[in-house]
Amino acid sequence: MLGKCWTGAYCRYFREAILPLDPALEAALSGQGPAPETRPCPVCGRPALLDGRRRYCSEACARAALREQKRDYMRKKRGW
Ligand SMILES: [Zn+2]
Repeated sequence: MLGKCWTGAYCRYFREAILPLDPALEAALSGQGPAPETRPCPVCGRPALLDGRRRYCSEACARAALREQKRDYMRKKRGW
């Protein structure tokens, strides 16, 4: 009766104790594919390695976002 519970608790302890040390192993074991550093691109939603300097997955998405911002800006400026 206790066997299964014990195994589950031990397994969880193992995961919490070991996995944070090795993100690659964590990704491999949890089967969630991309590395933890990836975030969805705000334009197309694809997972990409984004940080302070790189905010979009590609040049095309960066331009699309910029165009969108400019259009909003122009609209407000003209008082529409
Ligand atoms: Zn994108």
